[in-house]
Amino acid sequence: MSTNPHGTITGNRGLQLEEPLIFEQGADGRSGVDLPEPPKVKSRLGGLERQGAIGLPGLSEPQAIRHYTRLSQKNYAIDAGMYPLGSCTMKHNPRLNEKLVRLGGLADLHPLQPVSTVQGALELIDTLAHWLKTLTGMPAVAMSPAAGAQGELCGVMAMKAAHDAKGNSKRVRILVPESAHGTNPATAAACGYQVEAIPADARGRVDLAALKARLGPDVAGIMITNPNTCGLFENDMIEIGRAVHAAGGFFYCDGANFNAIVGRVRPGDLGIDCMHINLHKTFSTPHGGGGPGSGPVVLSAALAPYAPLPWVVHGKDGFALVEQTEGTARSATGRLKAFHGQMGMFVRALAYMMSHGADGLRQAAGDAVLNANYVLARLSDVMSAPFPGPCMHEALFDDRFLNGSGVSTLDIAKAMIDEGFHPMTMYFPLVVHGAFLIEPTESESKASLDQFIAVMRGLAERVKKGDTDHFHQAPRYTPRRRLDETQAARKPVLRWRPPAPDKQAAE
Ligand SMILES: *Cc1c(COP(=O)(O)O)cnc(C)c1O
Repeated sequence: MSTNPHGTITGNRGLQLEEPLIFEQGADGRSGVDLPEPPKVKSRLGGLERQGAIGLPGLSEPQAIRHYTRLSQKNYAIDAGMYPLGSCTMKHNPRLNEKLVRLGGLADLHPLQPVSTVQGALELIDTLAHWLKTLTGMPAVAMSPAAGAQGELCGVMAMKAAHDAKGNSKRVRILVPESAHGTNPATAAACGYQVEAIPADARGRVDLAALKARLGPDVAGIMITNPNTCGLFENDMIEIGRAVHAAGGFFYCDGANFNAIVGRVRPGDLGIDCMHINLHKTFSTPHGGGGPGSGPVVLSAALAPYAPLPWVVHGKDGFALVEQTEGTARSATGRLKAFHGQMGMFVRALAYMMSHGADGLRQAAGDAVLNANYVLARLSDVMSAPFPGPCMHEALFDDRFLNGSGVSTLDIAKAMIDEGFHPMTMYFPLVVHGAFLIEPTESESKASLDQFIAVMRGLAERVKKGDTDHFHQAPRYTPRRRLDETQAARKPVLRWRPPAPDKQAAE
């Protein structure tokens, strides 16, 4: 018998079980159920009747259960430990949200039910919309977009529609800072715009002078993330808004980091025209598993007429959904999403808002910023921070502290896994070399932050001692060690094929 790389006969180690593909475990004719023979009927499929075996893996019930349970355990999750991915805001999903979304009166609704039977659901959407407008200081909100990225699409489509309505076809450019999330330039390009990058200044903020110099009659608008992807507040928002408006453009704010300022800053007061809100970032809905995302977009009075369908209205007969509109705005954006958006996410987000209250949301933002600053302060002497603190909700480091050590940002991330910590976001934002972007969120305790800080300090110490090999060998304790990530991305093997019969015989 050949020894496997794990050194055990089964490949299992420390209760980490090797998990073959379901096709490799299955056997023809094995089944978890005992069905009666089908009655003999004359086939009506003509020549289309299957001749060979169907080729599905046959498994017993315990085999199937173990397979999927083990796969589920291979997913790292916020419920399993700290998940410090900067920019992603992996915050705790309160179980109260889950309890409410499972209430029969909400969970069993059908989107095609008559409106008269779903008054409560429409009221819920309307109430959430009201909270979002109040918290952002904006007059309108489009609830249906399915994520931050689709919210951006919604916002930029609205900007484009507003320019088109004025017959303005010369505005072909959208300005995007260098530090932008990749979705910003992608959205602008998807809407047919040319993307022009605006450099950052030495403080990690948009270079205001460079921005003003590029404004002109060819600019449709600007997209700025605030707080930005370096975890810093853009201090010049009001000035930027004025300049963009004076040049006839619209001001898109990427609100993915709203969790750092909710209850403290109303983006509407900063002069923005539209902003998407990631309910899974600021308002604690799950990123995955619990269902698809939701990215409502708040709109200024100038863009509100170009909101996508549908929206909830309230009249003397109760709540109703506007699904058709007359007039010029009718075909501007149409629908972006089936039905009215992600109802399950609306319920969770509203549960989070109402259980926290306005003061609780404000405190969550404050605690998120406090936690990030604690990490920044406790690691600044052993790692290297590109911008002086304080930061907002995420702490940014670069790789200058690794200079000359032979250890890379990636090596540090791999070594963290051996220490029981999921790595932070790496190599993003691009404006900083070898970036480490750490977002602890408000729900981490001081104890868990201290553990994380101790691990990072220990690793930095090892780098200093020149223990390069430790880093190059990491991770040691994962079921798979270093993978060829480039090959995996470029040439993914997505399809299982049965082993060739001659190869089987030779073994
Ligand atoms: C997460 C994020 C997005 C994209 O949001 P999704 O909901 O993942 O589509 C856009 N911009 C920034 C700054 C983000 O952090």
